[in-house]
Amino acid sequence: MTETHGTHDTHPDRYEVLVVGGGAAGLSAGLVLGRARRRTLVVDAGEPRNAPAAHMQGYLSRDGMPPAELLAAGRAEIARYGTVELVTDRVVDLARDGAEGGAPLGFTAHLAGGRTVRARRVLVATGLKDELPPVPGVAERWGRDVLHCPYCHGWEVRDEAFGVLATSPMSVHQALLVSHWSKDTTLFLNGVAEADLSDEELRRLAAAGVDVVPGGVAGLVVEDDRITGVRLADGSVHARSVVFVASRMVPRTGLLEKLGAELRETPVGACPVVDETGRTTVPGVWAAGNATLVAQQVVNAASTGYTAAAAVNAELVFEDIDARVGVTQTGGTAEAAEAAEAAAEV
Ligand SMILES: Cc1cc2nc3c(=O)[nH]c(=O)nc-3n(C[C@H](O)[C@H](O)[C@H](O)COP(=O)(O)OP(=O)(O)OC[C@H]3O[C@@H](n4cnc5c(N)ncnc54)[C@H](O)[C@@H]3O)c2cc1C
Repeated sequence: MTETHGTHDTHPDRYEVLVVGGGAAGLSAGLVLGRARRRTLVVDAGEPRNAPAAHMQGYLSRDGMPPAELLAAGRAEIARYGTVELVTDRVVDLARDGAEGGAPLGFTAHLAGGRTVRARRVLVATGLKDELPPVPGVAERWGRDVLHCPYCHGWEVRDEAFGVLATSPMSVHQALLVSHWSKDTTLFLNGVAEADLSDEELRRLAAAGVDVVPGGVAGLVVEDDRITGVRLADGSVHARSVVFVASRMVPRTGLLEKLGAELRETPVGACPVVDETGRTTVPGVWAAGNATLVAQQVVNAASTGYTAAAAVNAELVFEDIDARVGVTQTGGTAEAAEAAEAAAEV
């Protein structure tokens, strides 16, 4: 653990809310929970998805800011509110306690650094993992001149010589989309059979001016720290300065699965089932950001973190009020109601 802000209450390992992941989604949730006076722990393993990129584009008012600067600004904002603790660590296990006999909801988490913490509610914002095709040069250049998203980087590389490295027939869609940013676009089929493309797709590629190159790709040619070409298996080199590729995006759902959360199959893999607030199918557990939807950009991830945190807070507010109603209806005093509320905290 390298970084800690905020305060502990009397029970240093008990929190009202545990947020797992401190990227845009988790920090946005932390800010809302801090402002809602919730004793919150945000645990972040420190590997945000866009870390390889020098700049973060398309976030209104922060367009072009380095990704790490946005997160640092978020952490500083959260620290102002005093009830949120931010730690650099990894949640390695998460279990629900109190599931039986009407006991209040509670969760126990184990951190890689050795801490065990408990919380009344959990918000999972663990992001996703980009799995890249094993083409030499792709991983090394990822986020620099190997790109996946024209909305993130298209403007910066507009009108350059684009290559699109196919990973499936779906790459036709990516080639058509990015051709909007450069009329000099080549789709490298990279083992995808031309016969797998429909006549309609081939007509659209031709209409968009996208060249189609069959054959396997042996690797990227890099000179002076920039891509200069795409080398095919037959040794020929096509001069290109930017390569787009679709990663296989795998939401980090391991902790949610341990809790028994339902997943749904999507065209890009399994994502947790959530309602419009990010509530999963496990009572007391929310999810936000790329862990729930791979298509979310930073601004969307921050937004879903906000929404989920507000829903978590509301549920706690009403749970505590209902606990007081229960005590006072049975003739209890205000002090007894407060004691019941404190007991419900974890
Ligand atoms: C190369 C690249 C460039 C991009 N550029 C842009 C751009 O310019 N503009 C834009 O809007 N979007 C961009 N994106 C998309 C952007 O990265 C995501 O939208 C955003 O990171 C999603 O935020 P998140 O909080 O859901 O996940 P993340 O930012 O990935 O944060 C998740 C955090 O959770 C942590 N974590 C995971 N598991 C655990 C655990 N068990 N315990 C504790 N912590 C854990 C991770 O270490 C990570 O810090 C880019 C993506 C890539 C790959």
